Amino acid sequence: ARRRLIVVGGVAAGMSAASRARRMDPSLEILVFERTGFVSYGSCGLPYYLAGLVGRSEDLVVYSPAFFKERRDIDVFVGHEVTALDPSSRRVQVRGLADGEVREVAYDVLVLATGASAVRPPVPGVGRPGVFVLRTLEDGIAMRRHVDVLTGPDRTDGGRPRAVLVGAGPIGLEVAEALTARGLSVSLVEMAGQVLPGYHPDLAAHVEAELRRHGVDVHVNEALAAVEGAGDGGAATAVRTASGRTLPADLVLLATGIRPNVELARQAGLRLGSTGAVAVDHRLLTSDPHIYAAGDGVETWHRVLRRPAWIPLGTTSNKMGRIAGENAAGGDATFRGVVGTAALRIFDVEVGRTGLTEAEAAAEGWEPVTAYVRHGSRAHYYPGPGPVHLWLVGDRRSGRLLGAQAVGPAGAVAKRVDVLAVAVTAGMDVDEVAELDLSYAPPLAPVWDPILMAARAWG
Ligand code: FAD
Repeated sequence: ARRRLIVVGGVAAGMSAASRARRMDPSLEILVFERTGFVSYGSCGLPYYLAGLVGRSEDLVVYSPAFFKERRDIDVFVGHEVTALDPSSRRVQVRGLADGEVREVAYDVLVLATGASAVRPPVPGVGRPGVFVLRTLEDGIAMRRHVDVLTGPDRTDGGRPRAVLVGAGPIGLEVAEALTARGLSVSLVEMAGQVLPGYHPDLAAHVEAELRRHGVDVHVNEALAAVEGAGDGGAATAVRTASGRTLPADLVLLATGIRPNVELARQAGLRLGSTGAVAVDHRLLTSDPHIYAAGDGVETWHRVLRRPAWIPLGTTSNKMGRIAGENAAGGDATFRGVVGTAALRIFDVEVGRTGLTEAEAAAEGWEPVTAYVRHGSRAHYYPGPGPVHLWLVGDRRSGRLLGAQAVGPAGAVAKRVDVLAVAVTAGMDVDEVAELDLSYAPPLAPVWDPILMAARAWG
């Protein structure tokens, strides 16, 4: 019989694993079980689908189940949930969600790619119609349908439809932009004292100003208390905050965070890490010799901290999936890990980070010193947008670059953050960064790039 690989979960990590395993071993039998109706799509594109920039939900899908069957000999079962995992007999229990039928399927090797789920804060009313989370393609389709109705010709009341977004992390902000573009009046409610919690407060202030400039009503230091509506199960009509503020709402998004889907791993007795996500070694093997794991449900290696961390991102999930798939098919690849790089764009402002923040570095026993510069993103005489603000964190004792954050005009930030991500990865000292041979031409950069200026200003 053919050796059989079962993959649980079919988005970024799962389909990367299945495809890589197929490339490694043409004889392997590969089964993917996915409980939602879709596989192989870019969830990172969901805000742009809501905005209407991406026309149809199908446009977010990379390959269909039929493609996987015909071109890659991978059997994809959508609408199938794995409800139990027994490592001792190497079997899973699978339930078809359409017919409720349960069957047992044996495997030789398994990849857990169950990802993460959106958390709904435990307050009254979060189950009302008109309240959404944005995680899966199905979430996106449901939310876009609601936005289409709110903005469509059949609207009953004449006013501008109102959205309240709870949580001002990357997803809340990207959706704020999307719904503003759709003509909704948007309020953001954030429990922390700033938007983008975790970023430098001065950086967050630039982002908040940009949101306000585009008409977004921003409320920080406000926790969600309840979603109100008519009667017990009536549609959402308002959001109430802990301070007693009431914000009228035709649509509510809960973007208050995610948690790793570890139920199967826990039930199977696999080791979880201190972060709560599934623990793996450098080959992405779990504590069971026949089970690999990858993606948002799994810890990743942090190259600066030199220990596992949970940093759920699409870029990492795809890479981890590829490694897990390769090893599940008999390969011997290692995942080198991450340095905590991320970027986003909100309206005309771009934000990014890499490595450690000053607070993270201090918590690890480094002696962090931060240099801040505000410097043009192009030659000073060249027409165009404003400056880049860059915070560079280095260790006073060793001189080593530990991390950076930046905010500035769209197109000018991710480039700088990526250069610094390479420098952090290479373990460079700030002194060396100050002498990097970076590109210069008036429309693209100033002769002294903000990176060089910040490194010079450090120490
Ligand atoms: P998931 O996408 O969570 O997929 C796991 C799948 O497993 C799910 O479909 C789930 O239904 C299924 N599953 C779980 N349990 C079972 C079971 N028992 N049986 C069967 N199926 C099961 N990342 C970036 O790097 N950059 C970005 O700009 C970015 N933007 C984002 C914007 C949005 C709106 C969202 C939601 C995410 C964004 N991300 C971004 C994060 C990125 O989308 C995720 O990191 C990525 O989707 C994780 O992939 P995954 O395969 O590990 O997990």
